[in-house]
Amino acid sequence: MSKTLTTNNARSFIGGEWTHLGSKTYDVKNPANGGGLAEVSMATASDVDAAVHAASIAFADWSATPLSKRMQIMHNYRAILVREADAIAELITAEHGKTIAEARGDIQRGIEVVELCCGANRYLAAEGNQEIASNIDAQTWREPIGVCVGITPFNFPAMVPLWMFPVALVSGNTFILKPSEKVPLTACRLVELASEAGLPDGVLSVIHGERDVVEALITHKDTVAISFVGSTPVAEKVYQLGTHHGKRVQAAGGAKNALVVLDDADIDNTVRNIIGAAYGCSGQRCMAGSLVIAVGDVGDRLANALCVAIDKLKTGDASRDNSVDVGPLINEASRERVERGIETGLKEGAQLIRDGREVINEGQFIGPSLFDHVQPKHQVAIEEWFGPLLCMMRAKDLDEAIAWLNSSEYGNGTVIFTQNGAAARDFARNVQCGMVGVNVGVPAALAPYSFSGRKRSFFGDLHVQGQEGFLFYTQQKLILSRWDDNYKRSMGW
Ligand code: NAD
Repeated sequence: MSKTLTTNNARSFIGGEWTHLGSKTYDVKNPANGGGLAEVSMATASDVDAAVHAASIAFADWSATPLSKRMQIMHNYRAILVREADAIAELITAEHGKTIAEARGDIQRGIEVVELCCGANRYLAAEGNQEIASNIDAQTWREPIGVCVGITPFNFPAMVPLWMFPVALVSGNTFILKPSEKVPLTACRLVELASEAGLPDGVLSVIHGERDVVEALITHKDTVAISFVGSTPVAEKVYQLGTHHGKRVQAAGGAKNALVVLDDADIDNTVRNIIGAAYGCSGQRCMAGSLVIAVGDVGDRLANALCVAIDKLKTGDASRDNSVDVGPLINEASRERVERGIETGLKEGAQLIRDGREVINEGQFIGPSLFDHVQPKHQVAIEEWFGPLLCMMRAKDLDEAIAWLNSSEYGNGTVIFTQNGAAARDFARNVQCGMVGVNVGVPAALAPYSFSGRKRSFFGDLHVQGQEGFLFYTQQKLILSRWDDNYKRSMGW
């Protein structure tokens, strides 16, 4: 056990000590070149009790720590993260593969959540009314709930953990993070820096592991709330298991986001945004645009312009080459899944007008790929392939485009490109997605707004970050007080 994280090897952090747990290890590799980065010691279900115990003990003092002190630690944390942002971005690029610019965006979005937490008093403020009945005042307070758990995916190694634990901690809870085993180094660094900011031992823990660890955290009698972000099948299971055990659960899942283009759209702006949405982070974003629906006559013009833009993109190892636009997939299984998507579209008769399988490389690469003339019934248009694979469909009018995108089981985000305000308004009102963009490539919620997926993109009620994040990590208490106005007489005045 050690107080500092001195080696690259990822350990769990419990009660303020870095410790190797379990006998199994997981090799963390740079997905661009296969280079070994670290070994993660994978805990087992039997290790979970120690983490929950440390968090439960720490909760008593931490929940009683003044809010001003908790916010001060967030100020410290923000300054440390800003100081370390470039180094964290390099770590993200090494273990995830995304470009340095994308990695900077990943940590920057997370820092913005910490900034929100610097002003948490606004979100945690009491509400009330004087004299709601004769001599009676009513007030509601928001109080912390206890030991909270976060289970995070590989695709945003910094942003997604930071969606969760700063909000939970500044609200007075303790927190246990179970990061993706594929990108544990960024998570360890974030937790180490949070300790440097002044968090007492046991307030924030990290435990590495797989399904057994997740299930033990969810079902432990002393954990109260579970935040999950990952794929839909796992999100649904986590939600069911958690709610069955009486826990609050917010579980964000996968997506299939459509970008709708009308005839009157500014084509240069539209193409730039579609390219960013579809191929940024190699398509490994829950807000990635993976479907384009061209409405009316814009289809051929758009397809040609997309091909021109795709041909300028460079796919490669972003950890060695700053000019790379598209990095690798996270691992072999992901690359094979995207290849399967391409084969599926070909079997279904869609036209593959750009084939990313032609990218020759040793890492887990697939270049930007584009299908045209995809039908809404095609499996390639229905499944989340989670890679640089964009499918274009052609709808006769906006109603048809909306009907197609609303037929998806997912409801994360969608976008319209048009110069027509009335069409944009009609679109925003009728789509069944939680985040809508107008002439914006990726309408992902920034820190003050909750990340509001719907349908099978989200299980639960209160979403992560923003106002709903604070509601999720707190419970309400009502104080109803009566002070009769005869006190002056009793004082003899
Ligand atoms: P994943 O579901 O495989 O893993 C997510 C987390 O769950 C990891 O920590 C993993 O160790 C754990 N896990 C995996 N299988 C489990 C099981 N059977 N039981 C319990 N825990 C399990 O997801 P991923 O591949 O890491 O991430 C990609 C997915 O996440 C995509 O579907 C993407 O759309 C989604 N995602 C969603 C959002 C959102 O806000 N909706 C944000 C980011 C990513």
